[in-house]
Amino acid sequence: MSVTLDDITALAKRRGFVYQSSELYGGLANLYDYGPMGAALLRNIRNLWWKTFVDDRDDMVGLDASTISHAKIWEASGHVAGFADAMIDCKSCHVRMRADHLIEDYFTKKGKEEKVEGKSLEELDALIAKEKIPCPTCGKHTWTTVRKFNLLFPVHLGILEESQSLAYLRGETAQGMFVNFKNVLDSTRVRLPFGVAQLGKSFRNEITKGNFVFRTLEFEQGEIEYFFDPEHTKWETLYEEWKKTMWEFATKTLGVNKSNLRWRAHTDEERSFYSKRTEDLEYNYPFGYKELWGLAYRTDYDLSQHIKFSGKDLSYTDPQSNKKFVPHVIEPAVGINRLFLMVLADAYWKDDQRRRIVLKLNKTLAPYRAAVFPLVSNKPEIVAKARSVYTTLKSAYPTVWDDRGNIGKRYLAQDEIGTPFCVTIDYQTLEDNTVTVRDRDTAEQQRVKIDELKGAVA
Ligand code: ATP
Repeated sequence: MSVTLDDITALAKRRGFVYQSSELYGGLANLYDYGPMGAALLRNIRNLWWKTFVDDRDDMVGLDASTISHAKIWEASGHVAGFADAMIDCKSCHVRMRADHLIEDYFTKKGKEEKVEGKSLEELDALIAKEKIPCPTCGKHTWTTVRKFNLLFPVHLGILEESQSLAYLRGETAQGMFVNFKNVLDSTRVRLPFGVAQLGKSFRNEITKGNFVFRTLEFEQGEIEYFFDPEHTKWETLYEEWKKTMWEFATKTLGVNKSNLRWRAHTDEERSFYSKRTEDLEYNYPFGYKELWGLAYRTDYDLSQHIKFSGKDLSYTDPQSNKKFVPHVIEPAVGINRLFLMVLADAYWKDDQRRRIVLKLNKTLAPYRAAVFPLVSNKPEIVAKARSVYTTLKSAYPTVWDDRGNIGKRYLAQDEIGTPFCVTIDYQTLEDNTVTVRDRDTAEQQRVKIDELKGAVA
């Protein structure tokens, strides 16, 4: 892939997709703010996700749980005890990093693939020592031992210190679906198999490598818990169906190039003990193939844990057979910000022939469907006509107005934010009610009747 992360971050900043968070005060590492274009692109991704996985299906319902949640939830889920990264410090230059990243990157540079998830701290120490892995920053081999570092952000609720109670910012949205399973059953007409979907922010105190929005402390997830009766529904079939659905969402709905995607099955060592199968859909980011979307068959582990910790009955009674049991679950979990970065990387095109940068975004993803320009800004008839075309188009699609600078510059600015169509109102418009419509990818223009404009940009 020829596009670099620097290309993407520069464009993202220049055109208002992504800014560093708290930049005015020196910035905060691994946190980002999304500007006007970024907010629009994120919203479009989110809306397509919701439409595909909730609105267009009759076996799915939505949920929106709070981001601050009871400490017990995270004890039951295993996050308090086990949701930790192994970190290591360089004693010479004091850089802190994830031990798994240190080892994996070392092997990648040697042309080998090594996955270390699931290894104990002692095994990581031994591997680093055996290979004499140097610090990527200063080159020395003076490491501390590997230590565990919990990723959950604790919060203290209440204003009086003595009566404050510990809660956590959620580390994933998934637990919201498990702890509300009974509420959803009792308050809706769902029947197995069915899924509960949620979009929302999660928080992890990650040690990151600074791969832009790929791994951040605060991020958005789109997670689904698909509940089923393993005696009625074959999990292998369901699993394959979800793989197909996820693949189609990435390649068709978001329009990403198939050749940049691949499935990777977790090894026995890295897979959680309760999961029967876990595979990651990986995208070929500018820094290599990395997890975009996880798909895990989690059996009845999560509901059973919450039954154990809460003492409440979270089982399901089959309305036909009266069989009472704890449903099993398949979980497709994606990061919306990783979809965002994927879409930017995939759409980025350096058009050397016309000396421009184009974001070849799918029409449904682009922040604006069309831009409307009056050819000149000092002819009131042209401006008035353009204004009326703009108002009409804006009632159907997100549309932007631009009358600054020359037409060429306006085109280049729209190309960089991925606007598929630029509509120009010129002298001929006043005579025959036609406008020029320029196609973003081919840069070709054609004259279209104003009456037919909505259809032309559909
Ligand atoms: P990774 O191995 O990359 O840390 P994970 O396996 O811990 O990811 P999950 O817990 O399965 O991730 O979360 C589901 C999805 O949420 C991931 O596939 C990813 O797209 C997204 N995600 C997880 N952590 C982050 C993060 N720190 N920043 C942005 N997105 C994230």
